[in-house]
Formats: sequence, structure tokens, C-alpha cells
Amino acid sequence: MNEPPNGSTDIPLFREEYQTVIGLEIHCQLSTITKAFCRCGTKEGQAPNSQTCPVCQGLPGVLPVLNKKAVEFAIRMGLATRCQIANKSSFARKNYFYPDMPKGYQITQYEKPICQSGEIVLPDGKSIGISRIHLEEDAGKNLHYDQYSLVDLNRAGIPLLEIVSDPDIRTPHEAELYMRQIHSLVRYLDICQGDLEKGHFRCDANVSIRNPDGSLGIRTEVKNVNSFNYIEKALTAEINRQMELIGSGRAVRQETRTYDEKTNQTVFMRLKEQEHDYRYFPEPDLPTLVIDQQWIQKVAADLPELPEKKIKRFINKYKLRKDDAVLLCVNKQVADYFEKVVSYCNKPPLVCNWMLGEMFRLMNKTKRDFFQIVISPAQLAELILMIENGIISGKIGKNVLEKMFESGKSPRKIVNLEGLNQISDQEVLDELIDKVLNNNQKQLDLYRKGKTNLFDFFVGQVMKLSDGKANPALVQKILKRKLDQDNS
Ligand code: ADP
Ligand code: MG
Ligand code: ZN
Repeated sequence: MNEPPNGSTDIPLFREEYQTVIGLEIHCQLSTITKAFCRCGTKEGQAPNSQTCPVCQGLPGVLPVLNKKAVEFAIRMGLATRCQIANKSSFARKNYFYPDMPKGYQITQYEKPICQSGEIVLPDGKSIGISRIHLEEDAGKNLHYDQYSLVDLNRAGIPLLEIVSDPDIRTPHEAELYMRQIHSLVRYLDICQGDLEKGHFRCDANVSIRNPDGSLGIRTEVKNVNSFNYIEKALTAEINRQMELIGSGRAVRQETRTYDEKTNQTVFMRLKEQEHDYRYFPEPDLPTLVIDQQWIQKVAADLPELPEKKIKRFINKYKLRKDDAVLLCVNKQVADYFEKVVSYCNKPPLVCNWMLGEMFRLMNKTKRDFFQIVISPAQLAELILMIENGIISGKIGKNVLEKMFESGKSPRKIVNLEGLNQISDQEVLDELIDKVLNNNQKQLDLYRKGKTNLFDFFVGQVMKLSDGKANPALVQKILKRKLDQDNS
């Protein structure tokens, strides 16, 4: 069989006649303490097959028992995405064989998922429909060696939440925003650890080009796009490939592909399974799941403030710009940190600037996560107040923050130890300024002849001479007086 051409990236994207249609299936591993249908633990990094029992090993004759916490987590996600929560829901067997799934079928939900018909609202206000959210079990892991392969079933039976979007997404960038938002939500809800590198959060991206008559085109599914960095690239490569096919009069085949980051192309994996291949049928060993109103209400009452609401509150209460509020609220830890700092120093816009500017810059530079930050909210507030109160300049503040970031020391300690206090002493400033005026006779003459825009030059020289420590406001005041006074 001939491989269809792979999209080169030099054809222009999103030609008007080619509308892209994207729908994402996201699997997140639920952070329950025990597995979905047995009481084995879910801890990572344990010895292979040490977290297994006859149920998750798939031995014949055993009976699954549903984990209530996993259902609660599914309800949480459903409520957070404005889904309808089914009063009655059921499980099904999806039959297929992989060595990492010895019982030959996966317990999942088919006809009656727990949640249906929800939405995610992107930052620009666009709504992306959620068709369904259902519970299923994860498979084990195949470990491949030179001459043989082994199977580790520790992951088998860990509950997964599958979140399926409507085909409402129109661009690779939107797909990334949607994926990030789902990720942010599952972290807020505390139902998934969300480490993409550890496979807690996996995304399959379905994409097609709309037919000229407006109907949906044949789609392909790009498997396992498990990184925010790759989703946009993978979809762009696949869209380009499809446009090239269609543009040259060939048809897109419904198939499963994978993204190769090295070549920046998608690669054929297999023809898409048809639904009937799975021989879905109702799981005979699990009764209908009944979720009563009371349970739903209890879960709803325990939901934390979610990003959408928090963003609005941050804008109103702290007078932040929307973009900034969105960034602060991506992660609940970051948002909580912000509010803590503000509670100490009551300068919301400054706190926001320092966090999104310098602190994020240092995090990127050192590739550190927010939870590794050793600066306490009280210390950041103290730094901001020291600048506000003229004890140090903003510029020196940045240096101090970097040192706080490395050492966890308080800003006051760093400033005192390194003698970074701002110079506000009148006598010292007088001396510095006189020195600058003496050393720059030429500029002084020019100034006196009316070239008053040299003022900033003098300020700059004084700041330089003081290693940035002179209090700029005082320098300006004294300079002005000296220049004017001596001029008369
Ligand atoms: P399957 O389970 O066989 O993959 P689903 O009906 O569950 O199929 O759809 C999976 C995903 O594919 C959904 O997110 C849906 O929005 C998306 N999808 C369906 N049709 C198209 C299409 N023509 N183009 C792009 N995405 C699509
Ligand atoms: Mg699917
Ligand atoms: Zn088990």
C-alpha cells in the first residue's frame, strides 16, 4: 500500500476553501488511591506487578466492584464542564486484545456515560462542546527488551476519565487552548495529577477538512499527542497533509496516525477500527450505576472556585487586566499564592507584574515548576514594599528577587548583607551630585546655555556612580535645585 504524501509545511494553512474540523479525546488518569474495579493501589514506581490482584490481572471468574471515588471524580468534572449528569449510567465491554490487557476486553462506558452535553469556554468566549465524559479502565504496560517483552500490570485497572469534545475546534491553536483548559480544570478539581510526561494526561486529536457541501469530511486520528508543545505542530502537519491530498484530487483515508516530532510529520499507524470491531456489549458483572440528585448536590457543594469564576473575581476585585488574570488563574496554586501576597502588601497590580514578569522569567530560565519556588508570599510582599518605600530601587529589586529565588533568604537580609540599601541620605547624595557636575563640565555649560534636556543625562550619571543605589526621586529633586540655583 502506498503511503499518502506527508504535508510539507510550506503550503499556506487555512485556505478559505479548506475549513479544518478538530475534535479531541482526552484521557486523564484519576488520582484515586485504589483502582477502578479492585482494591489494588495506584502508586507509581512500584515493583512490576506488585500492585495487582486476580481482578486487574484479568483472571477468569473474578468480579469487578466499582470504585465510588472514581464516580465522584467523574461527576466533579461533569459539573465543572456544565454537563448533564446521568441519573442512570452503565458500563460496557470493549473487546480487543493487547498483551497489556490479558482479559481481552476493557471495561468502559458506551451507551450511557456518566456525563453528556457540556462545554468549555475558551478565554476569547468561544464555546467548545463536550459530547461525553465517561469512566474506563487503563491497560498495563508492555516493556520491550532486546530479545523479549514483559508485561507490567500495575497500571491495569487504574481509572481513566475520557473527555470527548464535539468537533467544534477550528484551528490547531484552539486545540491547544482547549487542551490546556481541560488540564487546568482537572488540576483545580484535584482529580488528576496532570503530569503529561508520566502519561497522566493523554490526548488523541481527530481532524478533517470540511467537504465543499459543508458536511464533515473523513477524519484521521492522531494518537497520543501528549504535550502542549506538540498539539499545535502535530495538527498543523496533519492538516497540511490532508490539504495536499485533497488539493491533488486524492481522498483522505480514515486512519490512525502518530506524530513524529523529529520530522514534524504524522506517520501512518493503522486503519481506523470500526465501532463494530469492538463488539461492545453491556458489562454483565456490573449493575446499573445510579446517581441520585443528593449525591450530585453534595459533590457540587464541595467544588472549589473554578478558573472561569476566579478570573472574573480577580478582574473585579483586584483590577487586573483580563490576560493577566487568565494567566494567574491557570493554576490554583499560582492564584492562591497571588492572593496571599496581596493580603500582605495590598498592591495587586504590582504583585501581578512581579509574579508574571520576573518570577515566571526565573522559573523558565531555571526550568523550575511553581511548586519548587522557595520564595514565600510574605517575602515577595516584603520585597515589593521595600521598593515602594524607597529602600531599594526597582532595578535592584530584580537582583534581590533572583537571589531570593536561589537562596530562599528574605529580601531584607539580602539587602542588608550586600549593602544594597537605597541611598536617601542627603549629604551622600549631595556629594555624588557635586562629583558628577564637576566631572561633566562640558555638559554643564551646555545645560546652562539652555540645553535642559541634558537633565536626564545628569540623573543617569548619578545613578551610575551610585551603582544604581541612589534614590532617583531625591536625585532629581536635588539636581534640579543645584542646577537652577547655581545657574542664577
Ligand atoms: P471514536 O470513538 O470512534 O474515535 P467518536 O465519535 O467518539 O469516535 O469521536 C471521537 C472524536 O472525533 C470526537 O472528539 C469528535 O468530536 C471527533 N470527530 C468526529 N467526527 C469528526 C470529523 N469529521 N472531523 C474531526 N473530528 C471529528
Ligand atoms: Mg474514541
Ligand atoms: Zn487489582
